[in-house]
Amino acid sequence: MEGRFADIIIDISHEKLDKTFQYIIPERLAERVKIGVCVSIPFGNGNRLRKGYVAKIGNKAEYALEKLKEIADVEEKDMEAEADYIALAAWMKEQYGSTMITALKTVLPVKRKMKSQEKKSCKLLLDPEEARDLLQSCISRNQTAKARLLQELIRMGELPMPLVTGKLHISSRTVKSLESQGALCTVAKKSYRDPVKISEKTADSRMQEYGREKRLDPAQQEAADGILGDFDNGKRDTSLIYGITGSGKTEVYLAVIEGMIRRGRQAVVLIPEIALTYQTLLRFYVRFGNRVSVMNSTLSQGEKYDQWERVKRGEIDIVIGPRSALFVPFPNLGAIIIDEEHENTYKSEAMPKYHARETAEKIASMHDAIVVLGSATPSLEAYYRAKTGKYRLYELTKRQEGSKLPSVYTVDLREELKQGNRSAFSRKLHGMIEERLAKKEQSILFLNRRGYAGFVSCRACGHVMKCPHCDVSLSEHMGGKLACHYCGYERPGVKNCPECGSKYILGFRAGTQQIEEAVHKEFPGAKVLRMDADSTRTKDSYEEILNAFANGEADILLGTQMIVKGHDFPNVTLVGILAADLSLHINDYRAGERTFQLLTQAAGRAGRGKQGGEVVIQTYDPGHYSIVYAARQDYKGFYEEEMMYREMLLYPPAAHMLAILVASPVQEEGKKLAVQIGVLLKRREAVLTGEEGKGLHVIGPAAASIGKIQDIYRFMIYVKHKDYGKLIAAKNSVEAYLEERAENGRAEKGTVQFDFDPVCAY
Ligand code: ADP
Ligand code: ZN
Ligand code: ZN
Repeated sequence: MEGRFADIIIDISHEKLDKTFQYIIPERLAERVKIGVCVSIPFGNGNRLRKGYVAKIGNKAEYALEKLKEIADVEEKDMEAEADYIALAAWMKEQYGSTMITALKTVLPVKRKMKSQEKKSCKLLLDPEEARDLLQSCISRNQTAKARLLQELIRMGELPMPLVTGKLHISSRTVKSLESQGALCTVAKKSYRDPVKISEKTADSRMQEYGREKRLDPAQQEAADGILGDFDNGKRDTSLIYGITGSGKTEVYLAVIEGMIRRGRQAVVLIPEIALTYQTLLRFYVRFGNRVSVMNSTLSQGEKYDQWERVKRGEIDIVIGPRSALFVPFPNLGAIIIDEEHENTYKSEAMPKYHARETAEKIASMHDAIVVLGSATPSLEAYYRAKTGKYRLYELTKRQEGSKLPSVYTVDLREELKQGNRSAFSRKLHGMIEERLAKKEQSILFLNRRGYAGFVSCRACGHVMKCPHCDVSLSEHMGGKLACHYCGYERPGVKNCPECGSKYILGFRAGTQQIEEAVHKEFPGAKVLRMDADSTRTKDSYEEILNAFANGEADILLGTQMIVKGHDFPNVTLVGILAADLSLHINDYRAGERTFQLLTQAAGRAGRGKQGGEVVIQTYDPGHYSIVYAARQDYKGFYEEEMMYREMLLYPPAAHMLAILVASPVQEEGKKLAVQIGVLLKRREAVLTGEEGKGLHVIGPAAASIGKIQDIYRFMIYVKHKDYGKLIAAKNSVEAYLEERAENGRAEKGTVQFDFDPVCAY
């Protein structure tokens, strides 16, 4: 026995309970209580049974014995959180701010044990001669069902039970009867629920290309050798593969993983969007067969649990998935690969607001593994670390096999308007689309918006239609309906301005649906597929649209940012970016970076085949540096200029930033709490400023740019410092303050959330 007392994390998320509680391990449970096990314990005044996880076991009572209660039972149905997971959760709680139990639930995405699925079958026990004799006697006795079954069993030897009771129409009584005669037996085999459903039809054409034997080019070889060589030499630095679009980063990942498998290790491959699962899976499946699996939120509970079990048992070498796939329990993890490393989806939007990049590095360090990042437009964070020697940098500067980077043209939309062209397509883009239609080549049109997305405003008085529950404008949808994208509120469209009565109240019409209508009008023969949040509601709709386009079923793919992420369509020779500057006007210090990434990645979808490609960037702001550098496909130029602004304003990665969101249903109370936190931090700032101007920079509190969501008021405080540790200390002091307030029962109504190095605007 390890010890007599257990420290337990209670399964309730509340600041006041965010510590461990000690319990006695009763003799009868001594064998089963281990670190990470889920138990039930009496808790609180009524001694209601609650669930909790064992965090520590020891021999010393921290309190008087008579005050300690006993663990009631071990919860067999719940997944265990092994010691590793508890350590990781503790790190996340400290690093990103959340309660321990929330952190633990984040790292433990599979929560319940599931019953395993069984496949039953019927197996013939007789040798062929005996079987034929029995068959004859059944026929002579007119036992047709028995005869039918025997006949099939003689042919096949073994039959799946669903076939026997289904297609062959044989009752279980008949089966039992033959079983008691010793003619057959029924067997049950454990079977895994397999989420890897590669369909022959859709996979065909791409499988062939992916399966083609490839020799790495010198740059790819250097990257793969460098990464594996460092690994063998005991170095565990993160590597960044900066490779232009189409340069073959995936082949490097495959080579690294192959090397890891040879070394008895496994790998996680993170992708930024579930929509990319199928295409990535195909590529890995061709190379590694059923040693590859997937893990994501579209899997059923049973599928998730089975993958988890297979991973633990060492039956899988590679798991592909979004950021939560980080937590799969490989016995001997070797590498975590993060593709399209710059994507915002790698940052969690729920508490704890962790970033997959740093969390991957933490997990890798716990398992003696490495992290490999890849992107054509690395995040400023990653490239900064590569330049300052923290990451090892590999560059792939050439596209594969004769395919060249596309030629890019910038069109000034203000000029078009002056020339009387009010359509969504400049004359240049219009002409180029017609060329493609004539040549039977494909085009992609990219719009950085969703639905009709444009707000509805009065041209007479400027009144904007807003959501009554959220501080955001409503967007106009097909049929004129107005909807809020934050809370789902809907109302019919308006004919007259509710403020001044004018009838000139109109939507800013630049959504995908609107463009789709325009395409049909201007290019009547063209077949168009639209891909945006509205057309991809159902589980398989992404794949259906992408497969249809890959198979040449449409001339034009029109969509929002989800079409620019890593897709590989060799027949696309034109990419049109309809309004490049839309993403510049977001109130966020990353807007310039985001715009550069979107434009460069969108441009990168053109000319991946042998025909070469062209890109048209339409914009109202052709002189903006994000657009200029994107048109030149000049990442390094962009990096230098953007980094200069970040240094000047102390934004990440030049410094670290902590966003503190205070939310309350009562405006005055939220504000009061935010002010108190601000005062606390400024006091800290004063203390720290003593150390040679190394104080915290505290900004705010102020109302968030979206000041209200679903009737909850929002206030922001931003804290900046070069040292991440100073921000953690600031967070800890706010947490301590909140806990103290809660204990004194003195509390304004409100919640506080932390977001380190935020990637979204509040
Ligand atoms: P990236 O992920 O960098 O955009 P991919 O890995 O998708 O690029 O590669 C682009 C195309 O080039 C793919 O069709 C891939 O099969 C092909 N490719 C990559 N490396 C090689 C190679 N060494 N030899 C031949 N073809 C390659
Ligand atoms: Zn008006
Ligand atoms: Zn709303």
